[in-house]
Amino acid sequence: MGAEVPMVYSHTQISQYLRCPRSYRYRYLDGWREKETRAAMAFGRCFENALGAYFREEDCSAALFNEWEAYRDTPFEFKKGETWDRFVHQGVHLLQRFAQDGRVRIHNPRKDLQVKFLQRLTGGNEFVAYLDAIGEIDGVRCLIDWKTTTSRYPDGPEGLLSLDPQLICYSWITGIPEVALVVFVRKHAPEIQYLRATISEEQRQEFGRLVETTTNQIEAGHFHSHSGIRFPQNGCVSCSHLGLCLNNEQLVEAKLIRKPGASDLDWLDELVD
Ligand code: SF4
Repeated sequence: MGAEVPMVYSHTQISQYLRCPRSYRYRYLDGWREKETRAAMAFGRCFENALGAYFREEDCSAALFNEWEAYRDTPFEFKKGETWDRFVHQGVHLLQRFAQDGRVRIHNPRKDLQVKFLQRLTGGNEFVAYLDAIGEIDGVRCLIDWKTTTSRYPDGPEGLLSLDPQLICYSWITGIPEVALVVFVRKHAPEIQYLRATISEEQRQEFGRLVETTTNQIEAGHFHSHSGIRFPQNGCVSCSHLGLCLNNEQLVEAKLIRKPGASDLDWLDELVD
């Protein structure tokens, strides 16, 4: 790495480094990527594309079905109670509920969905972010992140969302203080949360400094392992690189796929994040 070949950083990379620098090295320098085995992740992407269809006034249920159809025979690890059909059923319900609510407006869906922002960093490197949307919620202009999940986002104590690192990152790169998370909760009775927060100028500046110090650490080659919390949420247990740290070939085989040179495509992560 060096200043001659500019690096393109993203929020996914910075947060992975902050979670565990060793894991960052495995992923971004050595090319060990997680295999896509989780149905929920693939579905989330299909659902977001269906939302795009909704805002373009196309048939969003058909769009969801067509996108998800591509995964019909994928050997996903479905969680208890999950099936291919159930996903699509829940998704269609959520799209209907979203349309009924009518709380979100995107003025120009071809321009204001999946919006790319690029920020130049000191030393010639760059930081890229893809925002899900810029629009209005209940008439307030804000940047919007969609999430599909099975559990509600905690909506208290007040202001909690303003500490969300991804939203702070998006606010930093756009300069837009008003942020929102639209959470599509896949459960028996579909629920959508519309959560808004304001990010302060101080938070944006602080995030900018965090990006600079983190990228400096990366470029200095500091990749020590630290998994963070010990109990009850041991970071190693949920880390896809655990097999590499334990020299456990079976685990590596089950979880990872190696694509050297994949760091050129880092920004693709941002599209699915
Ligand atoms: S298994 Fe633990 S120590 Fe190893 S890369 Fe993952 S989080 Fe870091």
